[in-house]
Amino acid sequence: MQSDSVRVCDDWVWRTRGVVVYLRTMFMELTFLGTGTSVGIPMIGCHCPVCSSGDPRNTRRRTSLYVRTDTAAFVIDTPPDFRQQVLDFGVERVDAVVFTHAHADHIFGFDDIRRFNTLKGGVIPAYGDSETLGDVQRVFNYIGNKPSAHGLYRPLVDFIEVAEPFQVGDVRLTPLDVQHGRKMTGYLMEHGPIKVGYVPDCLTMPAATVAQVKGADVMVLDALRYRPHPSHICVEESLALLAKIGAKASYLIHLCHDLEHAELETRLPPDVRVSYDGLRVRLAGAGDGKVTVEETTL
Ligand SMILES: [Zn+2]
Ligand SMILES: [Zn+2]
Ligand SMILES: [Zn+2]
Repeated sequence: MQSDSVRVCDDWVWRTRGVVVYLRTMFMELTFLGTGTSVGIPMIGCHCPVCSSGDPRNTRRRTSLYVRTDTAAFVIDTPPDFRQQVLDFGVERVDAVVFTHAHADHIFGFDDIRRFNTLKGGVIPAYGDSETLGDVQRVFNYIGNKPSAHGLYRPLVDFIEVAEPFQVGDVRLTPLDVQHGRKMTGYLMEHGPIKVGYVPDCLTMPAATVAQVKGADVMVLDALRYRPHPSHICVEESLALLAKIGAKASYLIHLCHDLEHAELETRLPPDVRVSYDGLRVRLAGAGDGKVTVEETTL
């Protein structure tokens, strides 16, 4: 091929008359570390059918996603369950943390990132909007990027504010503007032809954000419960939004105990599924730019 070739994301791609050709299959694997709302399921002291269900898909840790590609391994949010989540789902490598917002259910496991400092042998970058990182640094005010003078092993973190697209390994992340009672940053993740939208907490999504995730291969979206809520969208609103976005496959997340997994599945269109802890979704982008989406479980 000739000189209009460009190097993107460590893979040679050619653009010829507007057509992009990838020279090898690229993949992105999503592991749902947690899919529950802020109190987790089962809720403390609740004996409803969902909280006492024998179906493991109704046990929901707080919301977090683990993303892997050939060169990237990062988590979006570190909930209070973070340590148990990474143990349960075999996560032994985290190169970066990406935060959506600083509600307790998304940040309170952050201290456990220090084990990944040791495993990686270095400082870990944490990305988020300025408001979120301000709150995280206030709560974890002992976390810095220099080893402790007293020999204590605290997390070593570089905090990096993001308002524009940035790169973690070979994944390009674009911050997405979402309202959730407070500012919430969702993310569009792109790797070669693969495109994934992640918005775990959402009350309203501006039209500009809908346009950014439109036609994604996978869209993950908040769907707290059937009834309306002051800071989350309900199932019906989520489905209406997902129909506008038109992803190949969509996953509902941040679910409360009103939603029984199997029963909710029966109410959804075929391209929308209910996420559950331990679900893995593997996306593969072939040379012609076509992306396949495949589910596996642990
Ligand atoms: Zn939340
Ligand atoms: Zn319950
Ligand atoms: Zn929240």
